[in-house]
Amino acid sequence: MSLSVIEPATAAVMEEIPRAGAEEVDAAVAAAKAAFPAWRAVSPADRAALLRALADELERRLEDLARLEARNAGKPIGDARGEMGMVVDTYRYYAAAPERLLGQTIPVAGGVDMTFREPLGVVGLIVPWNFPLVIASWKCAPALAAGNTIVLKPAELTPLTALELERIALDAGLPEGVLNVVAGPGSVCGKRLVEHPDVAKVAFTGSTEVGRGIAAGAANTIKRVTLELGGKSANIVFADADLAAAAAAAPSAVFGNAGQDCCARSRILVERPVMDDFMAELERAVLAIRVGDPLDEATEMGPLISAGQLETVGSYVPEDAPVAIRGSAPEGDGFWFPPTVLAPMSNDDRAAAEEIFGPVAVVIPFDGEEEGLRIANDTIYGLSGSVWTENGARAMRAARALETGVISINSNSSVRVTTPFGGFKQSGVGRELGPDALEHYTDVKNVFVAT
Ligand code: NAD
Repeated sequence: MSLSVIEPATAAVMEEIPRAGAEEVDAAVAAAKAAFPAWRAVSPADRAALLRALADELERRLEDLARLEARNAGKPIGDARGEMGMVVDTYRYYAAAPERLLGQTIPVAGGVDMTFREPLGVVGLIVPWNFPLVIASWKCAPALAAGNTIVLKPAELTPLTALELERIALDAGLPEGVLNVVAGPGSVCGKRLVEHPDVAKVAFTGSTEVGRGIAAGAANTIKRVTLELGGKSANIVFADADLAAAAAAAPSAVFGNAGQDCCARSRILVERPVMDDFMAELERAVLAIRVGDPLDEATEMGPLISAGQLETVGSYVPEDAPVAIRGSAPEGDGFWFPPTVLAPMSNDDRAAAEEIFGPVAVVIPFDGEEEGLRIANDTIYGLSGSVWTENGARAMRAARALETGVISINSNSSVRVTTPFGGFKQSGVGRELGPDALEHYTDVKNVFVAT
């Protein structure tokens, strides 16, 4: 059986690839299990060198990978290049880790006590379609650095760059079986990885709904699980903010990647006295967004990933929706949806409560700091968020009060290779990137030596 890979900008088939099933997962797990003893025994310096070689090889292929990702995921080529740059940086960053996986020595009676960070074994990595290779790198790089072997399952809609990665890893000198990719349906391949007795851990990025099932499925074999799930992040604009800067930055914070971003600041909370001025500035910025062909260098926003996603996103903007701003999008083939702002909304409206995962923002007014923070926290999610204010003390109060894993003050950035990323509440468990990720790919072993 084959898997038809669709190009979202045209809705045409881009490539037919073999469709993996449970048997292919079992074979990949067996290969990873066989490769594990030798991989964990590679000396730290040599493992570091192999990760640097992988980063170099990915960098050499950066333009090809960016074009492949841009076409398959429907993202602007400039964004795709940025993502591939982050992929390279992520492998380089964790290339430093094998030689820095430090343990502790602990004062005890009668001997010497020390700890080691041991690799887990075979790890199953399940990733979504919105940032395919970049999210895979957040998992693969620390997993490999810590001495684990991998079975990576890309989303069935966007498997192409992951399949390239498998080949590139071999070209870079990683031993056979260390990094295996299975491209097949989540309900079959993902499920098998979660249930497989020889998989020690599952690291999952995707929807909160599927994440719940993974947490439950992993319980049978007491697998370690990290979950990076959905979000409904708030972008809080106080009356004392640099309004022009906040409004100019707001569109890309929610319409970037056509809104298919777990960190999308899709709830824009504006303090009531500046609402009209903010909306006027926002309208200018939204109408200026260039939506079109992902391979056109001028494009800022591409299509949605699939016909299904188009239908879902459309359901949040019915005929009678309070549309305040609507940008433009191409007509014809492809899964196009214009950047859309709904206002004014209540935080209880469906579009304000649920993750839309498309280019639809809601604007919600608030009165005063307490109410703004209360509305921001009134959600099952807790992934990211922004606070715009020129009052430093308020910025710090807000940063501490917001129940999210990642917060930016006077900025909408969420993700850096060197800093931890992950969610509070139902946005997930565990952290990726930065120094923290390594903890999730190792178990601590305590050794006591009687002297
Ligand atoms: P999804 O949950 O439908 O799928 C994610 C992955 O899980 C895919 O590879 C899919 O094949 C697999 N899968 C599906 N069913 C499975 C099952 N029963 N068992 C095991 N695996 C299964 O998510 P999606 O639609 O691909 O991605 C969108 C979602 O991902 C959004 O909710 C978004 O917020 C979230 N996301 C979160 C982050 C983060 O870091 N927090 C980043 C990107 C995307």
